[in-house]
Amino acid sequence: MTSFVIKGADVVVTMDGSDLSGVDIRVSDGVIDEIASGLPVGDAGVLNARGCIVTPGLINTHHHLFQTLTRAVPDGQDALLFGWLQTLYPIWSRFGPEEMQVSAALGLSELALSGCTTSSDHMYLFPNGSRLDDTIEAAATVGVRFHPTRGSMSIGESKGGLPPDALVEREADILEDCIRVIDAFHDTAPGAMVRVGVAPCSPFSVSRELMRDAALLARDKGVRLHTHLAENDEDVAYSLETFGCRPGDYAEDLGWVGDDVWHAHCVKLDSSEIDLFARTGTGVAHCPCSNCRLGSGIAPVRAMRDAGVPVGLGVDGSASNDSGNLMAEARQAMLLQRVALGADAMSAREALEIATIGGATALGRDDIGRLAPGMRADIAVWDVSGIESAGRWDAAALALAGPTRVRDLIVEGRRVVADGRMVTVDERALADEARRLVARLMA
Ligand SMILES: [Zn+2]
Repeated sequence: MTSFVIKGADVVVTMDGSDLSGVDIRVSDGVIDEIASGLPVGDAGVLNARGCIVTPGLINTHHHLFQTLTRAVPDGQDALLFGWLQTLYPIWSRFGPEEMQVSAALGLSELALSGCTTSSDHMYLFPNGSRLDDTIEAAATVGVRFHPTRGSMSIGESKGGLPPDALVEREADILEDCIRVIDAFHDTAPGAMVRVGVAPCSPFSVSRELMRDAALLARDKGVRLHTHLAENDEDVAYSLETFGCRPGDYAEDLGWVGDDVWHAHCVKLDSSEIDLFARTGTGVAHCPCSNCRLGSGIAPVRAMRDAGVPVGLGVDGSASNDSGNLMAEARQAMLLQRVALGADAMSAREALEIATIGGATALGRDDIGRLAPGMRADIAVWDVSGIESAGRWDAAALALAGPTRVRDLIVEGRRVVADGRMVTVDERALADEARRLVARLMA
């Protein structure tokens, strides 16, 4: 169906300032044409949304899709960040292109079923011939909009770093491969399905020079920058001890602030760093479940939002979540602010706003995140006729009550999920494939 009309939805939550009842949405060639009552169907198909709420597709701003094959690894279940990494590095070092592709397809399918139409990814290790290309292929198969970032690590154990030497790369090779993937895949056109970013893993796994050169390269190529920053107390202590400054100062010093940069976590940003981010338009990928899972703390999202920092939502890698449900993540974001600041700290509506418009802004996109004529047709349809929604008074408060799995998902006007099942991949075959690879990794 290149052209179709979504009809009969209980409510259309546009995230554009209004909730609309009794309206139809016409989609043509991947774009929302018109939102109005009683739209004629003509030759177009019809998607019946009776008993459903329609929202913009959710946007995931931080993930490590390769980690989907390392969920709930026993020795990593209760470890803090650095110990957790040291448990998982030896397993990841045995990955190859097949593991990367299957893991990415699995993670993206899981996200799609939770309403996600656009996902970023941060792939920072490339063992045994793996390439960013593996995840880009997986995203094309699954059919979601994709912002892969070319991550990297260059300081191994022998140089005082955390990762084993086998998982780090030469800095010249890293930059060369960044150029290769940008030239091969980065699409600047409106409605682009793939936009590439540059993303050294973290300030503690690459040199000062690589951080600086990555920023110069990204600006030269007109792509975005992404990394982990101020994730927990250990992270801040490392920065103070090694660089003699806080993470925000380090980032600013090396060109890592600006409206073309978004940082993951930022749990430990202080007020001057929040001001810096607000002043420069630097974005944040807030990953509440991962922050809980690793005991990192509660990110100051209320203060960031009040200051004007663009905040999006991220599920983070599946080794530290260990789930990838973006609607559940929105709920967790809302609950965490309430734990810290009280019941009025974040509304269900604001959580949805972070998951949609917030994510679009963090990824530098103005063509997704809202439902309005001219926007790309990235649409989530939530069936609210079931048990988990029955009894609700506010249809749009999905972060409080309602399904966490979509009935239908449309990306660029194409159906990715229909009637609660993936259209683009065989879910059972994919899960079986993942089980086979995990058995091989365990052997
Ligand atoms: Zn991460």
